[in-house]
Amino acid sequence: MIDAIVIDKTDDTQTVDLTQIDPATLPERDVTIDVAWSTLNYKDALAITGSAPVVRKFPMVPGIDFAGVVRDSSHPDYKAGDKVILNGWGVGEVHWGGLAKQARVKGDWLVPLPDGLTMRQAMEIGTAGYTAMLCVQALEAQGVTPDSGPVAVTGAAGGVGSVATLLLAQRGYHVAAVTGRASEADFLKQLGAVEIIDREELSGKPRPLGKERFAGGVDVAGSTVLANLLSMTRYGGTVAACGLAAGMDLPASVAPFILRGVTLAGIDSVMCPAPKRRAAWQALAAELDLAKLGGLSVEVALSDVIATAPKFLTGDIRGRVVVPVAPDLG
Ligand code: NDP
Repeated sequence: MIDAIVIDKTDDTQTVDLTQIDPATLPERDVTIDVAWSTLNYKDALAITGSAPVVRKFPMVPGIDFAGVVRDSSHPDYKAGDKVILNGWGVGEVHWGGLAKQARVKGDWLVPLPDGLTMRQAMEIGTAGYTAMLCVQALEAQGVTPDSGPVAVTGAAGGVGSVATLLLAQRGYHVAAVTGRASEADFLKQLGAVEIIDREELSGKPRPLGKERFAGGVDVAGSTVLANLLSMTRYGGTVAACGLAAGMDLPASVAPFILRGVTLAGIDSVMCPAPKRRAAWQALAAELDLAKLGGLSVEVALSDVIATAPKFLTGDIRGRVVVPVAPDLG
């Protein structure tokens, strides 16, 4: 039997427990992995607390990402002992995820652990960090460079935002970190933010066009925050939108798009094609300052995951939460 967090639903009542499951009940897939490290993400918090319909099949093992060691494989690209990363593809939503001692998934979903990263570091980066890299790469694909001007990062003290801040600062951008937590200013400056902006400044009723402040942005918030960010984006700028921490709506006008040529670049990490995701992971391994990355994460034991999840919804999480499922594996 193996430890696993299991979310279940009968009638309209959701339950979530750390329990033991028979590995024989893992889904039929071609690669079985001993999970070494997993993480707790905003999406996992929504799933565990039942605050949003993230889980689409019950019972469900949550955990949208993990790093581990292949136990057995009938996939041509993987053999026992290989170290791998998984994130996305609906794992933890429609397919059993990483908050368990073992997982069985499609080999096509896996990314080999890049050289230079430990499994712990890969999960310090996790889906949040990989999404941050997709956002940065989207800005650069649209021609936003360090010379273009300040780039705003919303939810800067959270998982995606903190890695985006670090990555952009390392690439030489002037990062304007937007946060609701003034207490995190020093942390954000250590990551390389030049300006700290109070989230309140982007929380009022959005005007169709505001003062042109930013050459671009990485937005995890959506809703009013994203609408304000768009209205403050300079002529020809780009905002990469990946999240909905403030809400799923977008009370914006088309003015930034049709009068300033602003681009809204949508970022999805879940179904992102394999070549693009491998490129993002390679870039993360090559350029992230691992010493600073270490300071971004806190460890939460598998037994404390359920109690920690609600803190994501109250904005009480800083950086990344990593879960040592079987850290002896490496
Ligand atoms: P975290 O909870 O770690 O961080 C979210 C941050 O958003 C908080 O730390 C806070 O930052 C800020 N925030 C919280 N509430 C509000 C609010 N009401 N208005 C504005 N900002 C707010 O989550 P993650 O960083 O892991 O994820 C962020 C978002 O990105 C989530 O919506 C998540 O679902 C999404 N996401 C999307 C992916 C994709 O593929 N598109 C992949 C990964 C995540 P601060 O305290 O600094 O203000």
